[in-house]
Amino acid sequence: MSLIDVREVIKHYGGIRALDGCTMAFEEGAINGLIGPNGSGKTTLFNVLTGYERPDGGAVHLQGEDITAFTPDKVFARGVGRTFQLTRVFQRLTVVENLHVAAQRTGGFRAELSRWSSGSERARAKEVLDFVGLTRLAAEVAGNLSYGQQKLLEFAAIMIAEPRVILLDEPAGGVNPTLLSHLASRIQALNAEGTTFVVVEHDMEFVMGLCHRVCVMHQGRALCAGNPEEVRADPMVLEAYLGTDMRPMEHADVEVR
Ligand code: ADP
Ligand code: MG
Repeated sequence: MSLIDVREVIKHYGGIRALDGCTMAFEEGAINGLIGPNGSGKTTLFNVLTGYERPDGGAVHLQGEDITAFTPDKVFARGVGRTFQLTRVFQRLTVVENLHVAAQRTGGFRAELSRWSSGSERARAKEVLDFVGLTRLAAEVAGNLSYGQQKLLEFAAIMIAEPRVILLDEPAGGVNPTLLSHLASRIQALNAEGTTFVVVEHDMEFVMGLCHRVCVMHQGRALCAGNPEEVRADPMVLEAYLGTDMRPMEHADVEVR
């Protein structure tokens, strides 16, 4: 059963067809992977799904509800959380202050967020910090964290709201292997509790090891979808990646700090 349905979505920027009749579905309860060469429209699709961009055509449904014209706050209130390709945390606030800001935002939607747990915002912040393993850095200024730790913090801030689906835009970029496997284990643990994920990622080992289903984008459309093995073996996928700066079958050894 699909949680998110994308139907013939079009988004043009001047002459650039970022989304060009994009149709795909993300399964409820699954870790869905979304891959594709640079510029294939993955981030634009996330922007459309979360209300940051209004499409020029087509529709997005969340569990049967048409959310195409929703604002970001309204999509968020429906239980859709996201991270950004360029991590957005408040650099001058401490780790725990970042979570309190997230909790306040969530508090504003408490009536609408059905899965909001009981207990204070403070308790929830502590719970989430423990979960991602940043408790010892709670009092640290976020700007002093490594890039990977900032990504974990952004993830923690999303978790505060207990979204039913979390969209992650390149969570592995610039994250060292240790933090990366930690992040993967946190995604799996949340997924085991029922949270659906859509993960955009260039790191193929990460995607293929983590995702139950993978959808491949190319030039603003869905090229194919299937389980990781099917997608990996699909000649269309290899062809789509040819001539791009991406190396789909290799591990990107990027490490920051
Ligand atoms: P991906 O995330 O798959 O790398 P994007 O969704 O970021 O791809 O971009 C898809 C295409 O749309 C690219 O050609 C990109 O340059 C273009 N694009 C994305 N956002 C904008 C924008 N705000 N203005 C103009 N062009 C954009
Ligand atoms: Mg992108």
